Amino acid sequence: MEQLAKKLLDWYNKNGRELPWRVKGKAHPDAYAVWISEIMLQQTTVKTVLDYFDRWMKRFPSLDILAATDIGDVLLMWQGLGYYTRAKKIHECAKVLMEKYNGQFPQNRDELLKLPGIGPYTASSICAFAFNMPETVVDGNVIRVIARLYGITDEINREDIYRRACALTPQKHGADYASAIMDLGATICTPTSPKCLLCPWHKECVACELGITEQIPLIKKPEKQKRIGTLYLIQNEQGGYYIQKRAGKGLLSGLYEFPWHYDNEPSFEGNWQDTGKTIIHVFTHFHLTLHIVKGEINCGIRPDGVFAQPNELKNYPFPTLMKKVIKGL
Ligand code: SF4
Repeated sequence: MEQLAKKLLDWYNKNGRELPWRVKGKAHPDAYAVWISEIMLQQTTVKTVLDYFDRWMKRFPSLDILAATDIGDVLLMWQGLGYYTRAKKIHECAKVLMEKYNGQFPQNRDELLKLPGIGPYTASSICAFAFNMPETVVDGNVIRVIARLYGITDEINREDIYRRACALTPQKHGADYASAIMDLGATICTPTSPKCLLCPWHKECVACELGITEQIPLIKKPEKQKRIGTLYLIQNEQGGYYIQKRAGKGLLSGLYEFPWHYDNEPSFEGNWQDTGKTIIHVFTHFHLTLHIVKGEINCGIRPDGVFAQPNELKNYPFPTLMKKVIKGL
């Protein structure tokens, strides 16, 4: 086990990626930066996060500034990353850290888990990357690497992978080791055509030895449900579009949207014209297709939102679904 960790750390030392939220050879000095990057990385690719992270850190360079910011501005910065509940939890967590933890992240996994929006994965990441602790961080890349290393052809059992990954994690160099195994998955042990000859675990890898790398890991994904709805474009005489803030506690609450509903819900009364346009969006658990209709304000929807000119829409936080609608206006 120690030999495997050593080989991986040597490889990382020479080949690991330089990223703004990590410092090779030691912990990152700013747990806040680590935390933000980790939550963003749970949403999208490193390439996309680089840009978002840079803009975020310029706008909210520290925990106290973030905690004092209005949630609307936070959502605006998060716009496009999706899964807005995470942005709301980040804001809530920043406030708790300022009020109860003196603006410092606790250096303890159990204590981190008490914070809003911080689950086991994020707590382990903060412990490893910000405090250099020997925490085992298991994301999709790590699952793939471990499953191939041990030649696991059965459907993936996350507990089994975690147990095996823990056994490999060394007691020292927590930050480097966690970065190394993720980099190995992201750059060498890729989903298709892994570059096994460049891999530090090449000699030990069962999947490589058996020539079955691309059959592993076996992960069954549940089929996504398909849902259909209608979206209403309402313009006033000045050409402004009617938008409203989504209420409630759901996924998109607090963000702006054009009025819409699922087709099994009551429709809005009015003389709507079909635009012939549809928007398709894939959420985590379902596909949504929205048919777009248009009409005027006297068609039956109360004007309790705002009318925004097309060039003003950028000032409102919209989910990706609505940004697709705006793009087609
Ligand atoms: S040898 Fe190939 S399949 Fe095995 S861990 Fe390395 S890159 Fe992945």
